[in-house]
Amino acid sequence: MKYIPTIGLEIHAELKTKSKMFCSCLNDSLQQHPNVNICPVCMGHPGTLPVANEDAIKKVMQVGLALGCDIPAKSKFDRKNYFYPDLPKGYQISQYDMPLCKGGKLRNINITRVHLEEDTGRLAHPAGVNYSLVDFNRAGVPLMELVTEPEITSAKEASAFAQELRLILRYLGASDANMEKGQMRVEANVSVRPEKQKVLGTKVEVKNLNSFRSVHDAIEFEIKRQTEALESEKKIIQETRGWNEQKGETFSQREKEEAHDYRYFPEPDLPMLSFAKEEIQKIQSEIPELPQRKRKRFAEEYKLSEKEIEVFVQNKDIGEYFEKVVSELGENLKPEKLQRKTKLSANYILSDLLGLLEGASVEGEDFLITPENFAELVNLIDQGAISSAIAKQALREMFATGKDPSNIIQEKGLEQVSDASQIQEIAKDIISKNPKAAEDYKKGKQNSLQFLLGQMMAATKGTVSPEIAKKALLDIL
Ligand code: ADP
Ligand code: MG
Ligand code: ZN
Repeated sequence: MKYIPTIGLEIHAELKTKSKMFCSCLNDSLQQHPNVNICPVCMGHPGTLPVANEDAIKKVMQVGLALGCDIPAKSKFDRKNYFYPDLPKGYQISQYDMPLCKGGKLRNINITRVHLEEDTGRLAHPAGVNYSLVDFNRAGVPLMELVTEPEITSAKEASAFAQELRLILRYLGASDANMEKGQMRVEANVSVRPEKQKVLGTKVEVKNLNSFRSVHDAIEFEIKRQTEALESEKKIIQETRGWNEQKGETFSQREKEEAHDYRYFPEPDLPMLSFAKEEIQKIQSEIPELPQRKRKRFAEEYKLSEKEIEVFVQNKDIGEYFEKVVSELGENLKPEKLQRKTKLSANYILSDLLGLLEGASVEGEDFLITPENFAELVNLIDQGAISSAIAKQALREMFATGKDPSNIIQEKGLEQVSDASQIQEIAKDIISKNPKAAEDYKKGKQNSLQFLLGQMMAATKGTVSPEIAKKALLDIL
């Protein structure tokens, strides 16, 4: 019998706002000192009143609009009541039946909702002592939650969905969404059912996934575990499972006999939110170009390959740099010429420049190559004024010093030698200095030609094209 996996995701992301969700404490997830960004409001002192963070609401609405969600004209906050030491108020302000965003789609998967809530504090359990510690810096940090319909059918697709969401969150500036830092947290609901069965199987929720790799591997593991269980006619229990990275296994954390009763009720201290059409339109109009549109535009405008485009889309700063370089390539260029130089620019950015950057950003202060200088280098290559070996050398120098390429080439005497008689002279000289190699070549030793060519390239510091140099040597030999 064939078994079909089904996956639904619940994804939380910490929003990148200046202050927390309901108070003016700093929202700083990198703060190392415990309990410094706290106040009576986020500590849940009696008599304090929350005030909603407008920027957080806007950010969630932008995410919703970017995903094609419906933004209802009214929305409200609710209390989700439960006791836990990382939750000072004894309830979490969240949204229940009137979320900010409903519906929407990403990578063809339907989104159920996107809502806004507050994060909890962080617990630490030091080894060898009989107490735990709690840090409330994170308590009250604005948190977005996105829930998908159970429509994903593979681990690969689930991971791709989460990655594309992260990219969109970053493009919007809504969240840094770094999974390793806990700024984005993915929970995967996984079930398996026999192909002929219509209703979905019993789901298991997998938590503590802190990388895309774990999301993928944990889902893969669950699909296999559940399929094997069903094959041997065992029942799947509805439960929450954790992920053991080392062992590459999920493990049972707690069984969920019935749904928790959080006794949700409307937050009495916050008014209902209501939005005018114009307000929603304004927020929509502030959405920057998003990854999907950019992929299309780069394909049409620059005719790059899918792979090249993806690097520019994933590394927004590099993509923007590339576009600045292209805009400096020259005015009123013929389409073929512009196309050729555009391709050259992409090649040199994607291979050589990325190599030099070693993961650093082109937006950093110590990145010295202006788009204008980069375009000038591309023009020199395109004109045949310098060989590709020289271009790479010049680029390293530009990267280190920020000098412009023409200066570097002049200073170091790196111009391409294209004068035929000059090249012939050099070839003659090399052959007369290496008579043995010349003889060997004539006796049929191909390697000797390679040797002579190497000598010639070294003598000219690579300023002649290898093809022309080879031809000059062969003519004399
Ligand atoms: P709960 O009430 O347990 O939180 P929900 O119905 O709200 O369950 O769904 C939570 C998440 O689980 C959603 O992402 C949803 O797509 C997913 N989900 C629901 N049922 C299944 C199932 N049978 N298999 C896989 N995922 C499911
Ligand atoms: Mg749930
Ligand atoms: Zn506070």
